[in-house]
Amino acid sequence: MKILIANLGSTSFKYRLFDMDDSNAAQLASGGYERVTDYTNCIEDMLETLVGEGHLQSGEEIDAVGFKTVLGKDLSGCVTADARVLEALEGFKEVAPAHNPAYATGIRCFAEKLPTVPRVALFETAFYQWMTPAAYNYAIPQAWRDLGIRRYGFHGASHKFVAERSAEMLGNEVVAERVRQLYVDGPGEYEGAPLRVLSCHLGGSSSVTGIQNGVAIGASMGFSPQGGLPQNNRVGDLDSMAIPYVCKMLGISVEEAERQLNKESGLLGLSGVSNDARDICEAIEAGNENAQLAIDVLIDSIRHWAGSFFFKMGGAEAIVFTAGIGENDADLRASVCAGLEDLGVQIDPLANAKAIRGAEGIISSPDSKIKVLVIPANEELVIAREVFRKVKAS
Ligand code: AMP
Repeated sequence: MKILIANLGSTSFKYRLFDMDDSNAAQLASGGYERVTDYTNCIEDMLETLVGEGHLQSGEEIDAVGFKTVLGKDLSGCVTADARVLEALEGFKEVAPAHNPAYATGIRCFAEKLPTVPRVALFETAFYQWMTPAAYNYAIPQAWRDLGIRRYGFHGASHKFVAERSAEMLGNEVVAERVRQLYVDGPGEYEGAPLRVLSCHLGGSSSVTGIQNGVAIGASMGFSPQGGLPQNNRVGDLDSMAIPYVCKMLGISVEEAERQLNKESGLLGLSGVSNDARDICEAIEAGNENAQLAIDVLIDSIRHWAGSFFFKMGGAEAIVFTAGIGENDADLRASVCAGLEDLGVQIDPLANAKAIRGAEGIISSPDSKIKVLVIPANEELVIAREVFRKVKAS
């Protein structure tokens, strides 16, 4: 079955084409476009390329297109990308302004260009659908909760990949299989050996999730991808009283405050250098104190959230690092795990230094009670697998 995964940003379009069967997923092709103003042109160009390279005879040969949709109002999971999905994306377009309008437009363009090819949306919130009400509710009035204001959690495809792959790496096939079947069968009862994972997705945007026996029990990101850890240029957690106070003191509008929190905050706002951790690390080498502060706040926040889930799960068998920073910054990984020997975390400095540039590995020492893993992110594969299951079942 040929599954195309479309990754849509507000000005970018990336794709990967997979050939899937029950046991294998082979990537046939990938590509992308930047500074996009019209997805239809990209789709046409992509189809020409895929046919030209011999991967397809025509666009109709694609069995399904999968979309990594972010946040839907009253809708989550792995669902047919129909009018209901468009309505759900529209309903929360203000909450995920960089993502929802792009996906709504992209889904419409595919519907026009390839009307006979099924479209499937896998929401980033899907992995969190089994959080308890105590974990997802904010302490706000009923009228606010009726608007759908609650913690949703994001990066679901990435954390789900971590859940499955970490179980495989640690030899817990029962949990690995539970994760594979999660969106089909639900979690059901679990009676195997415990596998509690602190999953740290650290990249352009970052989040930490507690995963108990393959199922997310909480999320650092909240109502929007704005919450939790400081992101590249987004604020992360902030006391709600700061916004009215700043509007009054600086004489700015709520919209301007929102823009600054979305575009001029996070690692960029703290460091004053860049939104890219590589530039910030270079500035630290050159003695820039604000750059050091930005990384220190990120590390503190990762430890804060990981510590929270450690407590909630009553312990952990593994800590996992994934995404651009998590996969490449060995110093940051060592700092996150520093001083945790009494909890049973012991980093192997050599293994840690080696696990960079897409290398998977166990970076804790052999006698470390809690294993520390680096797992390269593979969100597209998760989406392709879920789309495959959904289309096969229909
Ligand atoms: P992602 O969102 O997963 O694509 O991650 C992108 C981020 O990874 C970039 O913004 C960089 O800050 C970070 N990154 C990539 N390579 C490195 C590295 N060698 N050291 C530190 N950060 C890195």
